[in-house]
Amino acid sequence: PFEVLIVGGGPAGAAASVYTARKGFSTGIAAERFGGQVLDTMGIENFISVPYTEGPKLAAQLEAHVGEYDIDVMNLQTATRLIPAAQKGGYHEVVMDNGASLKARTVILSTGARWRNLGVPGEQEYRNKGVAYCPHCDGPLYKGKRVAVIGGGNSGVEAAIDLAGIVGHVTLVEFDSKLRADEVLQRKLRSMANVDIIVSAQTTQISGDGTKVDGLLYKDRDTGAEKRVDLEGVFVQIGLVPNTEWLKDSGIALSKHGEIEVDNHAATNLNGVFAAGDCTTVPYKQIIIAMGDGSKAALSAFDYLIRNEKV
Ligand code: FAD
Repeated sequence: PFEVLIVGGGPAGAAASVYTARKGFSTGIAAERFGGQVLDTMGIENFISVPYTEGPKLAAQLEAHVGEYDIDVMNLQTATRLIPAAQKGGYHEVVMDNGASLKARTVILSTGARWRNLGVPGEQEYRNKGVAYCPHCDGPLYKGKRVAVIGGGNSGVEAAIDLAGIVGHVTLVEFDSKLRADEVLQRKLRSMANVDIIVSAQTTQISGDGTKVDGLLYKDRDTGAEKRVDLEGVFVQIGLVPNTEWLKDSGIALSKHGEIEVDNHAATNLNGVFAAGDCTTVPYKQIIIAMGDGSKAALSAFDYLIRNEKV
């Protein structure tokens, strides 16, 4: 059994493990894929104090830093169930897909999230070659160029407003006959000179020249006509899905979007269970934020362990 078990090995989980190991607590990390979303990222230019790095390099550095301490890293292990302790100070149980079960007095959940994909031809092929998901991360790469944002909810419209200030031209593409974003955001977007809004448009393909994106194809849902927009980048903004499906029957409080509800100490509604990073209700999903929150969750776990006797 561990004093601290971390589920998820992305930036949040790695940070949490270094903090609890440095407090002398026995610490384990179980991760489906150590490194998390960082492994799927190319250039990273907003990890403050590191002007430029690349995802696989940062993931290797996370692993090296964790490796400096006596942390039990269980990679390629998927958690399927959390059974919270029956009483404060007791052991929680995390059941893994291989049938094993891990016990710990505190659990830090850091299972991250995944961007919802469009699922159209070209999307996977041109990922990081014109297909992007994070305007804070990749917006500046499209300075002066033409991009589309797919999705007319709050995140899509916010992304379009953000990008319109950086890129040459933005086309917002929405499947429905109207945008769903807050009216104030829609007004702001409509006031921008370099933005076109297309509604009732079903994206059917992201086209490219073999090495990078050169356009977007959509079907006009009113007329059935196939249309094309020439551009250099496509930002997909149709939702970020937290990896929390496995927690549904644990009694943990989730938001309506499935994010783990945390307070400002990274505590969940379950005693001794903390959460950090993209799987939580903390706003803005970024590496530096996930690491900060992972550290915070670890210090809260420390505080819990020194105040609650083992039962
Ligand atoms: P994640 O990185 O998602 O890690 C989650 C971990 O949990 C993984 O190890 C995963 O395998 C594991 N896991 C999931 N489910 C289970 C389970 N049931 N059992 C066990 N383990 C599980 N942010 C920036 O700050 N700058 C950027 O430039 C940037 N670019 C990005 C580019 C792309 C293409 C993407 C996808 C994201 C980008 N981000 C960027 C966002 C950033 O990667 C995330 O905010 C960050 O990785 C979140 O860290 P996390 O630890 O919360 O979760």
